[in-house]
Amino acid sequence: MRAVRCMFCDGNTTIHNINAQKRVRGKMITVTNAPVYYCDNCNETFLSKETQSVFRYIQDRRLDEKRILFNFDDMVNRLY
Ligand SMILES: [Zn+2]
Repeated sequence: MRAVRCMFCDGNTTIHNINAQKRVRGKMITVTNAPVYYCDNCNETFLSKETQSVFRYIQDRRLDEKRILFNFDDMVNRLY
């Protein structure tokens, strides 16, 4: 994975692994160790494409009905 330009200010970003959270059908889903971009210039954080794909995978397959905690590496292996 490579860092991208900030979607807000076009600044340089660095990749960090965090516990990313997103609300899916009213439940807060957590993906641990998920890569996000952090902008050194404006301090914004935004989800990487890979992390967004994992959330979409969970949502599309209704995995949130069984559990709310997922590991990024486990999930990304199912995607690619
Ligand atoms: Zn920025």
